[in-house]
Amino acid sequence: MAKILAITNQKGGVGKTTTTVNLAASLAAMKQRVLLVDLDPQGNATMGSGIDKRNLSATIYHVLLGSKSLHETRFHFEAGKYDVLPANRELAGAEIEMVDLQNRETRLKDALQTVAAEYDYILIDCPPALNLLTLNGLCAARSVMIPMQCEYYALEGLSDLVNTIRKVRAHLNPDLEIEGLLRTMFDPRNTLAQQVSEQLQQHFGEKVYRTVIPRNVRLAEAPSYGVPALYHDKLSKGTQAYLALAGELLNNAKQSAQV
Ligand code: ATP
Ligand code: MG
Repeated sequence: MAKILAITNQKGGVGKTTTTVNLAASLAAMKQRVLLVDLDPQGNATMGSGIDKRNLSATIYHVLLGSKSLHETRFHFEAGKYDVLPANRELAGAEIEMVDLQNRETRLKDALQTVAAEYDYILIDCPPALNLLTLNGLCAARSVMIPMQCEYYALEGLSDLVNTIRKVRAHLNPDLEIEGLLRTMFDPRNTLAQQVSEQLQQHFGEKVYRTVIPRNVRLAEAPSYGVPALYHDKLSKGTQAYLALAGELLNNAKQSAQV
């Protein structure tokens, strides 16, 4: 059964999509069967996976509203070796249209259950908001990965997110865990980044991934070629960091299976 991970942070531009795309490609390169779910109307993970979001007749929007099955909607992304449930701006309308539907918070969860046995990992790229779409991501997931930049306001935003996760756990998804906090766009020469990083480790201890994602231009360039960085510049520091993160995830999963 797939391990379902929501990659989320209500703060914009912290590296959620970059993490989802590159982690998907890294896990797939390690022979894992991966489905990437684009839960953001911006459709950045869709474009970053080589799919033109403007020419799609069926997207996650149709899956959430129940007019198409996930089987009819997913793509296989040949170059990245993983599957994609794509999104485009139509998804923004789903927020309002879902309000009157039954089980509006668990529509993604119900859809993913139909394919979960086919994958080892399902990665959900959430939008930068704590809205009904993100709530669907948090209800479908078993755990949450939180990418964050080590900046002054980062910790403040984190407490809102942790409170939301607590509420979801209390009311909708009792099994939801924080899988880990990921330091992104890290610049070791920046003293403030170092200080925030230390505070994070003090507060969250083991929950902070050992792998740190450096600021690396190859990660920013790759989406314009429609590929993960692994297939743009394999030796770049960014690529290597996401491979290390995939290794850390697999290792953690192996250890918790042994306990
Ligand atoms: P949004 O909240 O809008 O969905 P996001 O959290 O998904 O944003 P990304 O789109 O992944 O964030 O990243 C924001 C910008 O920073 C993008 O232009 C991306 O290419 C760039 N970026 C992300 N990670 C890195 C990195 N490690 N090094 C350099 N640039 C990066
Ligand atoms: Mg994004």
